[in-house]
Amino acid sequence: MSIRVKKSTLLHICCAPCSTHVIKKLQADFSVTGYFYNPNLYPESEHNKRRQEAIRFGEEIGIEMLVPDKYEKKEWLELVKGLEKEPEGGQRCEICYRMRLEKTARLAAAKKYDYFAATLTISPHKRAEAINKIGADASQQHGVKFYAADFKKEGGFQESVELSEKHKLYRQNYCGCEFSK
Ligand code: SF4
Repeated sequence: MSIRVKKSTLLHICCAPCSTHVIKKLQADFSVTGYFYNPNLYPESEHNKRRQEAIRFGEEIGIEMLVPDKYEKKEWLELVKGLEKEPEGGQRCEICYRMRLEKTARLAAAKKYDYFAATLTISPHKRAEAINKIGADASQQHGVKFYAADFKKEGGFQESVELSEKHKLYRQNYCGCEFSK
């Protein structure tokens, strides 16, 4: 009898509620490690609150949750300079996705994960095509496979709402940066 060893994936987690359905779905095929890297979040107290909730959820469901030791807000602000007035879903957001996915791809390559993935497409406000394109670019650049998906589909978003309620997770009412507040 052969034992199937699951491939590993490093999952970028934007917040605990968005990760619920995505982790459940990916765990069917992968061994999942979470990575909370979101220097876009403002203010810092909100960043820390969402990070803490991701750590708590990771502990509750028994998955490792990696977190960076630095809040790279200055770097994020530099990247989106001049795009403060862009609407949500516009050019500023593409740069914001890219910064977070590139960092995840770099870490996944360094730690020799088989794949990297992202929770971002669970949001009904986010276009999967744009996120998957950025994931594919980062994949090529860093030599690690990207798991492309649109997690909001097939009831994914609805399940994330139900699971968040079940686990009593803090759910914010804005995307994250000062310009979306
Ligand atoms: S609205 Fe959200 S995705 Fe867009 S730049 Fe702000 S935090 Fe990033």
